[in-house]
Amino acid sequence: MAKGRVVYLKETNFVPRPERVLITSAPRDVYENDPLHRRLPVLTNDGYLNGFAEYITDIPEEWKFSTWQKDYGFAFLEANIKGPTFLHHPYSTTIIEHMESGVYDVLCISAFTWTLPWAIKMAHLAKREYGIKEVWLGGYAVMTDEPAMNQVFDRLFWGYGENVLNQAIGLSPKSAEDIKHPDLITRADWLGRKTQIGHLIFKRGCPNRCTYCADPVFQPGGDYPLSIDAVEEILDYYKWNGIKSVYISNQETHMFNTFGQEVLHAIKKRDMYFGMLTSFQALAFCGEDGIRELRDSGLSFLLVGLESLNDKNLEKTKRKTRQKFMEDTLKLLRQLNIGVTSTYMICFEDDTVESIREAKKKIIDLGIIVSLFNITVPLPGTPFYYQCKEQNMITDWNWSHWTGNHLVWKHPNIDPVTAKELLAEMRSEVNHPDYNPTLFKQWERNTKKSR
Ligand code: SF4
Repeated sequence: MAKGRVVYLKETNFVPRPERVLITSAPRDVYENDPLHRRLPVLTNDGYLNGFAEYITDIPEEWKFSTWQKDYGFAFLEANIKGPTFLHHPYSTTIIEHMESGVYDVLCISAFTWTLPWAIKMAHLAKREYGIKEVWLGGYAVMTDEPAMNQVFDRLFWGYGENVLNQAIGLSPKSAEDIKHPDLITRADWLGRKTQIGHLIFKRGCPNRCTYCADPVFQPGGDYPLSIDAVEEILDYYKWNGIKSVYISNQETHMFNTFGQEVLHAIKKRDMYFGMLTSFQALAFCGEDGIRELRDSGLSFLLVGLESLNDKNLEKTKRKTRQKFMEDTLKLLRQLNIGVTSTYMICFEDDTVESIREAKKKIIDLGIIVSLFNITVPLPGTPFYYQCKEQNMITDWNWSHWTGNHLVWKHPNIDPVTAKELLAEMRSEVNHPDYNPTLFKQWERNTKKSR
């Protein structure tokens, strides 16, 4: 069976008919009417997620990057559960109109930590005003130990929910081999080019246990891989829709185990290019020859989790690789002409203002094209969260601030205002053509190609 589990906050044994279940993610206008928290632009006006929306820095307009992608978890549910009504980042009024119709018994909400305050309000409203019998919650928000959750939600769905949610509405269980891959075609404005990429996730979750990361808590060990048939089917769909490039967005992509090899073969067979999200640990597993082989098979870009260039931070957070290895690997990738983008976290415990500024320079020198920065957040359920909570270090309990753009815990060396300033500085300088020569060259190459 696909993994995932249900926690019953109220044991009702109620099994709704599938067509009487309404499933929604946060509305695209979430917090719009709240004077304290304006809507975050991460949800686009046409109902997609833009992972770069908060890069409201002084990067010149034509260099700014953005994506329009679906919420992966929600898209998997929609592709694998037949009967309920799905609303993917709708308008708030659309959710209300559906509840007013009187045809639903259960409202199922998919939320992140930062959209939990909205989800709690919506759950109250659903029961009080629209006669909804039960409200269920899924997504990373389930990990939050917010007391109000016990009053308004009836069930929490942990992990990847296709199997358990099907069963909860009286349908057959879903085994991992039966899971279909959803259409995850993503539009992107990227370094002077407008592109469409087919996102591919053939194994969800992550087997590692970095102490600040939500994934190992949400679904320990990650899920089983999809079937090769599901992978082939979605690749054919992308190809048929004119997509030439696939982006593998597993949390950690291994291409040299048996299943990874089958996926690689499926991509090569279709003459597609590919990029992937992976870790330095997984690259270590490939070795130099393996990385060359991937490049010769169509690997054109990587997103790797750099996260910190300070070994103390890496050790404390149980990351598996260290600075020297990451720097050597990045050098090799540069020699092999594989474009690298990275993620990086600031305000780990051993960071200082000076060390973050040093890292800024190093990241540019390491030849990274673009780097995505966040402030370290003690996400609920993680070891880092419990450490902060036990030591009374949480300074901001407003969950809508838990986005990676605010310092919500008491850092030993950095205050919240400075953290925000540093975040803006890292985002704009590392990703600015005047400071980052690798970015400048890549942009020139891209714009020449599309002329
Ligand atoms: S490697 Fe990445 S996804 Fe995996 S646990 Fe660490 S931070 Fe999370």
